[in-house]
Amino acid sequence: MTTITIIGGGISGLAAAFEIERQGELAGLDVAVTLLEKEARLGGKIWSIREDGFLCEWGPNGFLDNKPMTLDLCGRIDLTNRLLRSNDNARKRFIYSGGQLHRLPESGPAFLKSHLISWPGKLRLAGEFFVPPRRDGSDETLADFARRRLGREALDKLIAPMVSGIFAGDPERMSLTACFPRIAELEQDFGGLLKAMIKLARKKRRERKAGKQVASAAGPGGILTSFAGGIQDLTDQLGQTLKGQIRLGTEVTAVRRLADCWQLKLADGNVLESEVVLSCAPSWALRQMTRDIDTGFDDLLEQIPYSPMNVVCFGYQRDKIPLDLNGFGYLIPRSEGRSILGTLWDSSIFSHRAPEGMVLLRSMMGGATYPQAIDLSEQEVVQAVRADLKQIMGIADEPDFIRVFRHQRAIPMYLPGHRDRVVELNRRLDRLPGLFVSGNAFFGVGLNDCVDASGKAAARVIDWLQTR
Ligand SMILES: Cc1cc2nc3c(=O)[nH]c(=O)nc-3n(C[C@H](O)[C@H](O)[C@H](O)COP(=O)(O)OP(=O)(O)OC[C@H]3O[C@@H](n4cnc5c(N)ncnc54)[C@H](O)[C@@H]3O)c2cc1C
Repeated sequence: MTTITIIGGGISGLAAAFEIERQGELAGLDVAVTLLEKEARLGGKIWSIREDGFLCEWGPNGFLDNKPMTLDLCGRIDLTNRLLRSNDNARKRFIYSGGQLHRLPESGPAFLKSHLISWPGKLRLAGEFFVPPRRDGSDETLADFARRRLGREALDKLIAPMVSGIFAGDPERMSLTACFPRIAELEQDFGGLLKAMIKLARKKRRERKAGKQVASAAGPGGILTSFAGGIQDLTDQLGQTLKGQIRLGTEVTAVRRLADCWQLKLADGNVLESEVVLSCAPSWALRQMTRDIDTGFDDLLEQIPYSPMNVVCFGYQRDKIPLDLNGFGYLIPRSEGRSILGTLWDSSIFSHRAPEGMVLLRSMMGGATYPQAIDLSEQEVVQAVRADLKQIMGIADEPDFIRVFRHQRAIPMYLPGHRDRVVELNRRLDRLPGLFVSGNAFFGVGLNDCVDASGKAAARVIDWLQTR
């Protein structure tokens, strides 16, 4: 029997544990998986908190259905029947700019009519067609890419808010190839984004004419999907499906190489031995755990900073809200000078998130462009969010329900050169047989990315066991 220890019980660790057991069984291997989690609960960033009839997501509120990874995993753990698609009226997204909410245009004519981008900004965006592709093969920041291809206004009003919405990050410091590899590919393969859109739309039309099945009309973004009990249904079900041992409240403080296995020191003073160790902990925790061994990771891991964030849930009686809340919510360009990054209209996105006659709004505050927000007192946070909601949505009343969640290290930021550093990390891991890594610090921060990376890490573990 091979002992395999997984560090970290977030989605990455749980998916890895499940896949190692599944793939191990398929390969006819006898594996004993132990999952060690520092906190007293599983889930990591995933935590669906039910209070006073509200369902508040501490971290993620769903995954997109345009990639198969999480959906496939749901099928394998018998969770498909609990899947919950976001409501159709939540497809509308807004940007707050110039003192008002603008619907994010989804088509060419809607874009032309929209007042979000000025006419010079629209012309500059259209000029993307003529911007030659960069062919030097080097990475660049998201902001440099956006300025070069789309113009400053598009960066400020479209790209930067989207980056803060997904990564709580700063586009001036983030890598294009690591954060949006597909966009980088489109420039290289088609010569530009508009050219890519036109050619891909033509290809789809041809395929449809030829009677081929073409990707759903959900568009490139896919449909946000969760579960009846919140996104935590996913990690709960994974935890219940695992055959191996789960040890909560178990923090690994150091990992050391012995002659033929790995030794893990725990915060409670105990020591464990394991033939395989797969870290699914955040990169800063991996860095601390491997400090005493010569992994050569240190310089690579220190270049993955995390942004802090406050998540602020406000519940209101519906009649206190002057807007119809028919949509997903809005994001705010930094140039608007507001405290929050944006607000998700959670009870519009998914059903049963608020008691009858009430609504739930979830605002994000902080991120890489306003890290000081994490040091504000709860009262200061609530005041700042109230002021923003009054200005943006016209909500004058006090919320009837308030919860403030703190993420000291919310989401990792991939800096330029990130992909090369991950390749180098893997090269150095090759010198440390039996040690593997996964988690959102390396291969993508979305839940789909985490599930995908952990499935691949599990395959590497099984492959190594079969060939060692
Ligand atoms: C506010 C917020 C909103 C988000 N929204 C979305 C969204 O809507 N959709 C989406 O796809 N993604 C979203 N994300 C991103 C996504 O939630 C994360 O990338 C993903 O959940 C990370 O999973 P993970 O398992 O890699 O890491 P984590 O969830 O961070 O899990 C790591 C685990 O390791 C444990 N650990 C750490 N150190 C040790 C140690 N020494 N010993 C033992 N255990 C240890 C931690 O306690 C933790 O449980 C959001 C993130 C945040 C913060």
